[in-house]
Amino acid sequence: MSQNMDIFNNMESEVRSYVRSFPTIFTKAKGYKMWDESGKEYIDFFAGAGALNYGHNDSVMQKKLVEYITSDGITHSLDMASTAKAEFLNRFNEVILKPRDLNYKVMFPGPTGTNTVESALKLARKVTGRTDIISFTNGFHGMTIGSLSVTGNSMKRKGAGIPLQNVVTMPYDNYVDDQDSLDYLERFLEDSGSGVAIPAAMILETVQGEGGINAASFEWLKKLEGICKRWGILLIVDDVQAGVGRTGTFFSFEPAGIKPDIVCLSKSLSGYGLPFAVTLVRPEIDKFQPGEHNGTFRGNNHAFVTATSALSYWENDDFEKDVKVKSEKIYTFLEKMVKKYPELKGEVRGRGFMVGIASEVEGLSNKIAANAFELGLIMETSGPKDEVFKLFPPLTIDEEGLNKGFAIIEESIKAQVK
Ligand code: PMP
Repeated sequence: MSQNMDIFNNMESEVRSYVRSFPTIFTKAKGYKMWDESGKEYIDFFAGAGALNYGHNDSVMQKKLVEYITSDGITHSLDMASTAKAEFLNRFNEVILKPRDLNYKVMFPGPTGTNTVESALKLARKVTGRTDIISFTNGFHGMTIGSLSVTGNSMKRKGAGIPLQNVVTMPYDNYVDDQDSLDYLERFLEDSGSGVAIPAAMILETVQGEGGINAASFEWLKKLEGICKRWGILLIVDDVQAGVGRTGTFFSFEPAGIKPDIVCLSKSLSGYGLPFAVTLVRPEIDKFQPGEHNGTFRGNNHAFVTATSALSYWENDDFEKDVKVKSEKIYTFLEKMVKKYPELKGEVRGRGFMVGIASEVEGLSNKIAANAFELGLIMETSGPKDEVFKLFPPLTIDEEGLNKGFAIIEESIKAQVK
């Protein structure tokens, strides 16, 4: 073991959690590959939990960033206007919003996913004058008090140390074509005479990442949007993990044909793994006064530069088409694994590049992921019991990378199901 590894092994704290899953020290990364101190090469099917949808160190973004830095482009400008910020806003409008007929104002809520969720919850409460938020079982929205309050995971909620209030948790459309939960919700809202408070907003992921790759059906999402409209409840889609192409379209909600009032984006938005988040807000509900939701590190200019460059991937349909072809390959592979290895007691979950296998066999997904790591593939597990092993390669991965990854996964399944 290297000397550098000692520093992690001697530390008594949770910061080691990923080190326990991936016990080595990484030095370099490019595209879908990573290397550790010993020079061992790994295939990255983790992609920073969805923060590296374009892979590591994309050459075009890297060049743009280096040019910007060496020409003394402004790094930190708080809320001041900058050319990098203007370019990002223009391109985001032209390449992403306009072609999708979406009309949102762009707000910079702070550097990470939890910041955009906090801003969305605050704004919804301010706009509606109501307090309650409806969230869903197994949803994950972040680690600060507001975003944790809408997170459906009891272990994580306990970490708050205080009661997390003003949130009603409803059953998520757990991959079943069962719309009863929404009928129940609507009956509950109709019963206002008995003291039920109409909530300010509903917040959800269209595909739950941390909660176990549960993909809501499009019908369920449509029906949910209908309820929000009928009752004047704001619909917040947290696209921090499922957005920026992870499910095959820029926004995860596009194929469902819904238009949320507020959208949370972060993770892969900078394109280069830099901290960056936006909150997209329907213009009519842009009600924050200047200074009402601020922060020092909103709108980092380096992230603007790489994020603007990343949008080029979306300029024509080719990228999306390529992602679709590859995601079908991934899905087919997973279905083949479930059939070929019945001992897995597996179920394929998710859509696009946000997929995995849920195994009913306790602990098996973690064993498969650990085995794959030994063979040079990085893969994470998720779900309340870590029952799902997640395939999250960069969207830019090529055929060779996918096939190498598949081979390692199959070998790991074979080794662990006996
Ligand atoms: N929302 C979702 C859907 C997420 O997956 C995450 C992070 N896993 C967050 C919010 C929080 O983002 P961050 O860790 O950047 O605060």
